Amino acid sequence: MTADNPFQRAKAQLKKAGIKAGFSAKELEVLAEVSAVHEKELSVTVSGEKIKLMAFRVQHNDSRGPFKGGIRFHPEVNMDEVKALAFWMSMKCAVVGIPFGGGKGGVEVDAKSLSEKEYEDVSRAYIRGMAEHIGPDRDIPAPDVYTNPQVMAWMLDEYEKIKKRKAPGVITGKPLALGGSKARDYATAQGGVFALKQAADLLDLPPFKTRVAVQGFGNAGMHAARILSGIGYKIVAVSDSKGGIYDEHGLDIKKLIDHKKATGKVLGFEHTKDISNEDVLELESEVLIPAALGGVITPQNAGRIKAKIIVELANGPITPEADDILYKNDVFVIPDILANAGGVAVSYFEWVQNNMGYYWEEDEVLEKLGQLMFKAFRAVYETSKRLSIDMRTAAFVVGARRILEAEKLRGNI
Ligand code: GLU
Repeated sequence: MTADNPFQRAKAQLKKAGIKAGFSAKELEVLAEVSAVHEKELSVTVSGEKIKLMAFRVQHNDSRGPFKGGIRFHPEVNMDEVKALAFWMSMKCAVVGIPFGGGKGGVEVDAKSLSEKEYEDVSRAYIRGMAEHIGPDRDIPAPDVYTNPQVMAWMLDEYEKIKKRKAPGVITGKPLALGGSKARDYATAQGGVFALKQAADLLDLPPFKTRVAVQGFGNAGMHAARILSGIGYKIVAVSDSKGGIYDEHGLDIKKLIDHKKATGKVLGFEHTKDISNEDVLELESEVLIPAALGGVITPQNAGRIKAKIIVELANGPITPEADDILYKNDVFVIPDILANAGGVAVSYFEWVQNNMGYYWEEDEVLEKLGQLMFKAFRAVYETSKRLSIDMRTAAFVVGARRILEAEKLRGNI
C-alpha cells in the first residue's frame, strides 16, 4: 500500500477506525471529503532573482468550527501532504474537543536558504494569496514546520493591512506583544508531556527509570527534551536534520540548547557519540519521541524499535504497516492527533483570549491544557480498551464520532 502518499495513509487510518467502530460507507465518505483546496503561485525575489513558489491551503472539514491548522515551509510540501495534514487537524481538534475543524497550509520552499527579508516576503505573499479564504471565523492558520511567531506576526500584519482592521484572531502562535498566548511557544511539547505522563503511569515507568530519545530538535523536540529533563527523565539521544548525538548517562539539555543556538546543530556537543538520525529511533530507551517529519517509522525499522512508549510529536511519523508491527510488539503509541494536540489546544486558548480581549497568566493556560489533555487521553484510552484497538485507531474513532455528530446535526448525513 501507499505508505509514501500521506493522504492515502490518512484514509487507510480512517478506514481501519471505520471498520472497528462500524461507520457506514456514507459516514466514511463525509469524513474523508476535503471541503476546499487553494493553490497559488507566489512571486517573490530570492537571491536577487524573481521566482515562483507553490503555495497551498487545504480546508478539510468545518462542521465543528472554523478550519484550523498550521502553515509549513518545506521544499517537499505538496498537495497530498497538505491534504493529509488538514484531515489530521480535523481529527486532532475533535479528539481534544476544541471547536475547530481542520485546515493546513504549505509553501514549497527551502526555508533554511532564505534571508530574513526573503522569509518576510514569502510570509506576506502567502497571506496576499490566501487572504480571501482565511479569517477569525473562517480559517485560522498557525505555525508548523519552519514557521514561527515572527512569521505569524508578518502574516497577521499583512492580513490586517489588506482588511484595514485589527483581527488578532485570524492567526495563532503570534508573539505575545501581538496578542499571542503565554505558553503557546512550548505548548506542543507540554501537551505531549502531559500525555506521556499518563501512559508512563499505566506502564509503571517513573521518570528516574525512563530513558528518552528525541528525533528532531526544533520547537517541539527541543521543548520536550527541556521539560522532560527538568522533571527527571534521562534524555539519552537527540538529533536534528544534520545528525544525532548519544550519551548513555543523559544529556545536559540546557547546555545543549545553548550549543544548538550557537552552532545551528546538535552535532559536536561535548562528550557525546555521533549517531545518525535513523539510529535515534532504534536505540535502547524506554520512550521515543519522533518530533521531526512524517513517515520515519516504516516496516523496515519498526521491528527494531526498543522503546515501550512512542510519543508522536511530529505529524504522521509512523506508517500504517509500521503501526501494526508496533502494536503486535506491545509498543504503546500515543498518536500524533493526541500527542501533539497541545499546540492547537493553546492556539484555541489564544483565539479565545483574542476574542475576549483579555489575557491569561501562564499557569492558567497550563492548568487548562493539563485538564484538556487528561480528558482527551482518557477518552482515547478507554475507547482503545473497550474496542480492543490501538491508541491511534481509538483516537480516530473518538474524533470521527464527534465530527459525525456535528455533520448529522447539520443534516449532512
Ligand atoms: N501546526 C500545529 C499542528 O500541527 C499547530 C496547529 C495550530 O495551532 O493551529 O497541530
